[in-house]
Amino acid sequence: MPSYNTHRIFNYLVFLVISVLLYKSNVFITNLGLYFILGAGFYIGTDFITPDLDIESTAIKRWGVLKILWLPYMWLFKHGQSSHNILYGAVVRVLYISLIILGIYYLLFRSLPSEMMVSPVYVFVFLTGIMAANALHIVLDAVF
Ligand SMILES: [Zn+2]
Repeated sequence: MPSYNTHRIFNYLVFLVISVLLYKSNVFITNLGLYFILGAGFYIGTDFITPDLDIESTAIKRWGVLKILWLPYMWLFKHGQSSHNILYGAVVRVLYISLIILGIYYLLFRSLPSEMMVSPVYVFVFLTGIMAANALHIVLDAVF
């Protein structure tokens, strides 16, 4: 299994190469704001919300004390199985942490956010970045 840093280097190299190719062909990067949001999602998906949150990994240690949020996830998902599913692995992780964040928000403010404060397009692009990073992680795991 490739190390945390091997995954990071691989992911960022692929992101860089694809960005250069897209830039050269004038596709997508015409909107720098969306590109930045995609990059932010990709960063979160590479460094924090990775498939290896199902074990005592470097990724989970990077959460610091907030690692406690991922303990139920670790107990629920056996390493290398559904957490490493290329289609729904990332979706499950994003839903899991979103429910916790919404729960904390509710406990603090006694209500849920009344309206979407962020454009759905930005949310979609951000999630795409996370899912792309997770997919690359799974591809690299499969190769080594
Ligand atoms: Zn892995």
